[in-house]
Amino acid sequence: MKALQEKIVSEGRVLSDTVLKVDSFLNHQIDPNLMKDIGKEFAVRFQNAGVTKIITIESSGIAPATMTGLLLNVPVVFARKRKSLTLSENLYTAKVHSFTKKETNEISISGDFIQQHDVVLIIDDFLANGQAVLGLLEMIEQAGAKLAGVGIVIEKGFQSGGQLIRNRGIRVESLANIASLQNGKVEFMEESYI
Ligand code: 5GP
Repeated sequence: MKALQEKIVSEGRVLSDTVLKVDSFLNHQIDPNLMKDIGKEFAVRFQNAGVTKIITIESSGIAPATMTGLLLNVPVVFARKRKSLTLSENLYTAKVHSFTKKETNEISISGDFIQQHDVVLIIDDFLANGQAVLGLLEMIEQAGAKLAGVGIVIEKGFQSGGQLIRNRGIRVESLANIASLQNGKVEFMEESYI
């Protein structure tokens, strides 16, 4: 997605060979117009997948997931990273190690919001080593629901997550795929220039 790549080039900051900071439009301040276009792109790519629900993880997955949900006209559920006092029974849970925060969180979703008859689309902001997506997949399995696929705003193709998830036969659509962050420079995978 060209507008996203341009935004990454103009506003992204390469913090190290493995971490990209995009706080000005995705992870802290949010660019609603870009999010709308991201939602449209995911909605087009998954329009024939029979999606009945979108799931993501708080907090940075919520904006792109909500825009996609709006366009596919389906509800959006976000997994919580902290236990809520009002969220105590009938929970799906999974442990997720955070690539950027270097901590493990138990994430949870109420059993009320994913059902066996659901066809779920996972949306997240970044794909690095795949831990967040694997956690969400575990919860979809606990619910006995079907998976439509995974939509990622920014995949870092030089890390292992993309291959790990695709090797399971799961459809992964990323809107920007980064080949390298070496020497402070963002390089994209060839095919994502289309
Ligand atoms: P994974 O679970 O695939 O290893 O990492 C994905 C999660 O880590 C994403 O939900 C995102 O919050 C965070 N993350 C991974 N890499 C980056 C990065 O380079 N920049 C930012 N801002 N977040 C990242």
